[in-house]
Amino acid sequence: VWDPSAALARGAELRTAQALHRAVAASAAGVAADPADGCLEVHYQPSVDVRSGVVSGVEALVRWRRRDRLVPPGEFIELAERHGVIADLGRAVLARSVADAPLLCAAAGRALVVAVNVSAPQLRDPALPAAVRGAVERLEGRPLVLELTENVLVAEDPGTEAALDALVEAGAHLTVDDFGTGYATLAYLRRRPFTAFKIDRSYVRDIESDPRTRALVEGLVLLASATGLGLVVEGVETEGQARLLEGMGAPTHQGFLHARPAPLEQACEVIAALRARLDGTDPAAAAAPGE
Ligand code: C2E
Ligand code: MG
Ligand code: MG
Ligand code: MG
Repeated sequence: VWDPSAALARGAELRTAQALHRAVAASAAGVAADPADGCLEVHYQPSVDVRSGVVSGVEALVRWRRRDRLVPPGEFIELAERHGVIADLGRAVLARSVADAPLLCAAAGRALVVAVNVSAPQLRDPALPAAVRGAVERLEGRPLVLELTENVLVAEDPGTEAALDALVEAGAHLTVDDFGTGYATLAYLRRRPFTAFKIDRSYVRDIESDPRTRALVEGLVLLASATGLGLVVEGVETEGQARLLEGMGAPTHQGFLHARPAPLEQACEVIAALRARLDGTDPAAAAAPGE
């Protein structure tokens, strides 16, 4: 049946996808994009280790700046996947993150773990392993983490294992993102290539109010220590949540309590301020003792 409104919607989606494609191509080539297409921007959100008192890592989160709007990834990653743009987009984000890593690490005063998100269709990008290898080399010892959500493995595609192995072979560490939100989550942790997981923020949101959620998170902390897997907790928004998590033995936190994702320059400022706060010294005060 001819449905004119569905046809219109498909046309609009196609035009949006084409604009995104051009924005990605311009970003990858480092040239100015057509303002109507906009451009990709990578924002950074630090994670902190509240026990050792350091900024431990930074996650790259892509945005699409278009027509005075900063479009969040929730609005265009799926589109990029459906229209074959995600492979180029993913490599552009990786390249940008690697280029920005020295400034971010300088602000932290240490080698940060650099984390980049990878979605399922990117595993079929034949150019990804070489791009990852290049990224690892340019990071000069700073660890590169690729965050994969559970949908990556749901498909049971026989190529998936090999693709994951190729990324590890290229020098990346693999993390399960949004842990606890998918099906058969535990099965992923049996797959050798993963070295860490991130507890989804929906757990953290209820950790103070819901005893069962709290118990589940405690169980996940035990699971991490029993398996030797790394653990990051996302979506930490309150001091109460942070204290509870630290008490459980989960000290690596990412969330609005510490910092929101921000563009490079601003992220560096936030990281420097976090660093000063975490080790209890204020560099501004130390630099100007006579004031
Ligand atoms: P994610 O990888 O789980 O990233 C964490 C998301 O939670 C980010 O949303 C971040 O801004 C948000 N967040 C961090 N701390 C808090 C908090 O304390 N409270 C709340 N309410 N939210 C918090 P964002 O930037 O909108 O990204 C959404 C998702 O888009 C990401 O989820 C990731 O799956 C995907 N994504 C982002 N960048 C890329 C990319 O370059 N490539 C791919 N393939 N996916 C990406
Ligand atoms: Mg992530
Ligand atoms: Mg997540
Ligand atoms: Mg997510």
